[in-house]
Amino acid sequence: MRAVSVHRDAIVVTSLLWQTTATALRAGEETMLIDSPYFPDELELLPAVLGQAGFVPTAMLATHADFDHVLGRLAFGELALGVPESTAERLRENPGQAQRALRDEDARSYVSRPRPLSLGQVQSLPVPGRLELGGEELELHPAAGHTADGMAVFAPWLGVLVCGDYLSAVEIPMISEGGSPAGYRATLATLAPLVERAETVVPGHGPTHPRERALALLDEDVAYLDALERGEERHRLPDGRDTVAQREIHTANLRAAGG
Ligand SMILES: [Zn+2]
Repeated sequence: MRAVSVHRDAIVVTSLLWQTTATALRAGEETMLIDSPYFPDELELLPAVLGQAGFVPTAMLATHADFDHVLGRLAFGELALGVPESTAERLRENPGQAQRALRDEDARSYVSRPRPLSLGQVQSLPVPGRLELGGEELELHPAAGHTADGMAVFAPWLGVLVCGDYLSAVEIPMISEGGSPAGYRATLATLAPLVERAETVVPGHGPTHPRERALALLDEDVAYLDALERGEERHRLPDGRDTVAQREIHTANLRAAGG
């Protein structure tokens, strides 16, 4: 697990699995934790790693319901998990899905946990909407298309955009169950003006980006969706993302896109 401070009041922790990010944003006396690292030791260390940097989470959000983003309660069991309405709906309609997916992934990699995941109290938040944090306001923007649910969180006073599973330098656009290329495009269109307002963009997986790099990735991802919708099996994936794992995702995307 790696911790990088991107602002005096913003720190990003990156898991060793899939470079999954967790972001702590501070305003006044309050700190919001968004998403989570994966491994049990990372979750166990998270309070100390954040605490050493002066971040003590007082509230928690998940960008979407995929199991690798909702593990925060394994580190901060006393905090409720705030999610967009679309994620609350997905959790309601698929009870136990995140827990099962986590169990299966753990079993694949022989990861054992001290206790199973319980999501605890889940708070459904209106999106688009705003959320007060220590006298400042977080903006919540809809971000579906990767899955059926999702939100991006923008902290204007920090210039930090936490966008969920979009704009990654390590992962191509992934169309998972409930997602669609059209939905993904709509989210990229929502994100574009937010990226323009941001100093730092934190994707769900991989390194954080300055604005210009995020805009370049956005263009690459639109071009990728074009190729996906043309059904191009042998499309050359963007630089840095042309790996075995990403080609497998491309094959799955072609199936999901109806090819
Ligand atoms: Zn993810």
